[in-house]
Amino acid sequence: MRSRTLLWIVALWLTACSHAPPAPSYREIQDTLTVLEQNHPEIAERLTYGNSVNGNELTALRIARKPLRASAKSVLIIGAIHGDEYMNIVDRLGGWLLSVSDEPWMHGFLDAGHRIYLVPIANPDGFENWRNRRLKPRRNNANRVDLNRDFDVISYGEPRLTQPETRGLIELLDRETASLHLIMSYHCCAGALAYPGGHYKLNMAEEDKQRHIEIARELHRILWGDIKTGDWKSVVDYTGKGVAIDYFYERYRALSFLYEGIFDEQRLFPHHAKAWQYLLSRVVGEQ
Ligand SMILES: [Zn+2]
Repeated sequence: MRSRTLLWIVALWLTACSHAPPAPSYREIQDTLTVLEQNHPEIAERLTYGNSVNGNELTALRIARKPLRASAKSVLIIGAIHGDEYMNIVDRLGGWLLSVSDEPWMHGFLDAGHRIYLVPIANPDGFENWRNRRLKPRRNNANRVDLNRDFDVISYGEPRLTQPETRGLIELLDRETASLHLIMSYHCCAGALAYPGGHYKLNMAEEDKQRHIEIARELHRILWGDIKTGDWKSVVDYTGKGVAIDYFYERYRALSFLYEGIFDEQRLFPHHAKAWQYLLSRVVGEQ
């Protein structure tokens, strides 16, 4: 009986590890951002914000008209903050968003001065360990710190941002004086959409909660027609402090979502494109 249980555990572990969409190297992903910047100099800019623990350059792409407007709303899209949860979605979004920059809805978003900050790989060291099948930290960074527990816990008065990857990102957004209105952090593979609430001290205003639920329903309709949504602790069934979406909600009162994809999420890219059209034109554009 015991060995059968062990077999099941091994089988489940193998299944979990088989989550392997096509993964370019971190260097290739960075080169793609450089090409996007070269091809769209009027709206795309590759920004660097320091180095990871292992010395990988930390990179984001800003999509916005220049000069930047102080009053503009900013959108932050984060991929692979857990290095082994890469889905080949966020790294394709930059190219797609720039390819539709002349469509009326995107044109309107840019004309209003709004900005998008896209971080395809927030944890490059973990991502490279996962991609190269190394038995080194894959979910965590090279210091074995879970970056999605390393954001300041505002309601507890606990400063964190102890790692170059998290501290660098927040310093970049501060330098840019980005006023965050919407953030989406992509994870894999629990199949859910969570809004802030990793611990019991985070109090969401009821109207904010309802707005998150309303947007989550629409996203699930666009993405895969199922709804498993709730605050973060009820979705994952445990509590945690220092989660990015809690930080961005408490600091900016931003609409903050943690998207948990499914195993073959990369096939759903066209749905993600539709989801971003809805988010940028309706959720950000019309408010
Ligand atoms: Zn995750």
